[in-house]
Amino acid sequence: MEIGYCPRCNIPLRGKRCDICNAHPYSLRFHELGDIRPASKYERGLLSKLIPFKEIRSYISRRIILLARQPGLDYRKDVFLDGFKFGTLEYIKSQKWRWRFVPTGKGAALIYGLTSHIDFELRGKGHMKGKKIEKEVSGDWAIIKINACTGVAVKEERGAKIKDVYCGRIATKKRSDMRNAVQGNRFFLEKIEKEAVEKIKRSHANYVAFSGGKDSEVALYLAHLAGVKKAVYLNTGLEFPETQRFVYNFADFLGVELIELSPPKSFWEVVDERGIPTKDRRWCTKYLKLQQLRNLRGVIVDGMRKYESLRRMHAPSTRRIGGLRTVYPLFNWLSLDVWLYIHYRGLPYNPLYDMGFERLGCYTCPSMLNAEFHRMKKTHPQLFRRWFEYLKKQGYGEEEIMDGKWRWNNLPPKLREV
Ligand SMILES: [Zn+2]
Repeated sequence: MEIGYCPRCNIPLRGKRCDICNAHPYSLRFHELGDIRPASKYERGLLSKLIPFKEIRSYISRRIILLARQPGLDYRKDVFLDGFKFGTLEYIKSQKWRWRFVPTGKGAALIYGLTSHIDFELRGKGHMKGKKIEKEVSGDWAIIKINACTGVAVKEERGAKIKDVYCGRIATKKRSDMRNAVQGNRFFLEKIEKEAVEKIKRSHANYVAFSGGKDSEVALYLAHLAGVKKAVYLNTGLEFPETQRFVYNFADFLGVELIELSPPKSFWEVVDERGIPTKDRRWCTKYLKLQQLRNLRGVIVDGMRKYESLRRMHAPSTRRIGGLRTVYPLFNWLSLDVWLYIHYRGLPYNPLYDMGFERLGCYTCPSMLNAEFHRMKKTHPQLFRRWFEYLKKQGYGEEEIMDGKWRWNNLPPKLREV
């Protein structure tokens, strides 16, 4: 998977040319399922905390940072700065759960260029990447110099290992933010808006699903432009208060009718009997959401995107839910496109994104990452407590809960080792 990047304006490009400087983009590659997007305020704050140099903190605070997902059990993302892979940010368990950032060789070269900081110098010939060295690394990583090259060494149980080396200088780049990115992608954004609105019009949709997340917000906005007047909000009773408020406010803001539907019995009334919803036994979506749609007839606009997950990548381009047929105007959009569009139209968005959440859904959702589940403990202690206590009552130990083991009926092999 790849997107374009303008080296002059220091912004991602989705069109064939940069609408600011007219340059042709070069390609920035990332994982097939990376679903690249700008870093949130929370993630920018994390990087700032994890990189112990004030020059770097100030540099990255004035540049676009892009994140692309990497396969893994929890949060693990490639971090792109100035259009190259600057490092990896992940949430890991090493004694306790915590965040770790490790720069690439190129990232280390940029850090060295801005700070002149070196942890230690090595002499060596030939290929150094992957070599073990007898040095004590105090944090997670250290910047090393090998002849004319810069590299990064990561801490191992004993000593350290050279993780990556880059031979060359990294030039600093122009400041950039989302406003610049919108300017450089103006033509592309006009185009995808037009295509989506036409698709919705052609489908004769009469409803649009609205959950309060960024994709469904954009779907609602586009459906509104296409003349759809009714938004359907499936309130599971397990929504974050921010989501609930955002749903009401955004529907008001657009002046669309909001149809709020809830299950006949609440989650808490049925969970004892049905059991904890897990990734491999997910009764909740059907019971809490889809069943409520059974009395609706016609066509419903839905913000589903194929890059959200492997399952959605192979999902059919339309679907029937009772008497409803779905239409997916954002099916081919990247997360980046959704964010560019939100900024392009100056739309408000759910505040949870800036608080460290990426997937907004129920606060008991087994699809949540541990990074998000643990974050909830800080941001929504009461909701966290309620679910945590319930899981404990079902026989899970505190550590098992924090490791996220309740999210599977049959644990995947990799997780058994955690
Ligand atoms: Zn440009």
